[in-house]
Amino acid sequence: MNLQFFMPTKIIMGDDCVIKNAEILKKLGKKPLIVTGSRSAVLNGSLKDVTKALTENGQEYAVYDKVMSNPTIDCVYEGAELAKSENADFIIAIGGGSPMDAAKAIALLASQDIKREKLFSGEYEEKVLPMVFIPTTAGTGSEVTQYSILTNDAAKTKTTVAAPFLFPDVSFLDSKYMESLSKTTTINTAVDALSHSVEGYLSNRSNVLTDALALEGISIIAEEFENLKNFTLTREDRSKLLYASTLGGIVIAHTGTTAVHSMGYSLTYFKDIDHGRANGLLITEFLKLVEKEKPERIKTLLTAMKLKDLAELEKIIMELLGEKEKLTEEEIMEFASIAIKAKNIANCIVIPTEEDLIHIYKTVFDL
Ligand SMILES: [Zn+2]
Repeated sequence: MNLQFFMPTKIIMGDDCVIKNAEILKKLGKKPLIVTGSRSAVLNGSLKDVTKALTENGQEYAVYDKVMSNPTIDCVYEGAELAKSENADFIIAIGGGSPMDAAKAIALLASQDIKREKLFSGEYEEKVLPMVFIPTTAGTGSEVTQYSILTNDAAKTKTTVAAPFLFPDVSFLDSKYMESLSKTTTINTAVDALSHSVEGYLSNRSNVLTDALALEGISIIAEEFENLKNFTLTREDRSKLLYASTLGGIVIAHTGTTAVHSMGYSLTYFKDIDHGRANGLLITEFLKLVEKEKPERIKTLLTAMKLKDLAELEKIIMELLGEKEKLTEEEIMEFASIAIKAKNIANCIVIPTEEDLIHIYKTVFDL
């Protein structure tokens, strides 16, 4: 048996875990830059918990709250400039995937000079500010990955900044920050988490340990399908979804994502379709493609979800996501030509051709 596993992030999960573990923030540095979006960290109480913990520690802090969804290159350079001018010596990210992804790039850019044209090169010194992550959605898994996924206008898609030293040092998981999330955001992020574990399970970089974690994540999310649909989630259900999304993050930290994410990025970049929703729209058609060559792998996924076939999964996901957007033939051709160039295409256990991607887009969007 061959196995490699690397997960250096300390994970602390539980009610009020930020406040209860405030001393950890003291050990990481003198003054953090808090990286977040404009509103949600205030509304869900996470920013208040963090600033309370810092104040009780006697630590100063600065706040960069301009991270938009699908963060841009300009955004991370601006955040890094603020970190330097404020003499911040560590980063605290609060939010969904966008603030967390931006925070990794900010922590990298604040510790070394990287020219814009070299940002996606992977040619960095092994130097980064320490990072504390606090997810406020249960989907991205960014709190346990080495990826910072940014909007790349030059390539008209999202591109990943990745390095083994970009794992956060500590992640605090407290599902109370998710209680105020809307039904749409809750569903889209849960579908993203499902997609991470499913794609990780169908990656040619998977191993026995990532498979075990992926199947655990998938079965937990499937148990919540009904509660997601009816929006009858208790705090305990929200905790399970958060745990499952962190499992999905640990999985893709090892396996990468696959064609579903490559194809979804175009839907987000050009059509402004939410990231998790984009993956959800595409995933079943991708699974049908894989099923032709690897039926046993798909069967195991379905068993983990207690479903009999992919048609049943498709019905559930479409009930969760509601009416689909419309795409034109030209859009599909452009999206497929961009997606086929993405690095994560090579991760699939069944590597699709550009024609396969066109077929998936056309089937999903009824063209
Ligand atoms: Zn994702």
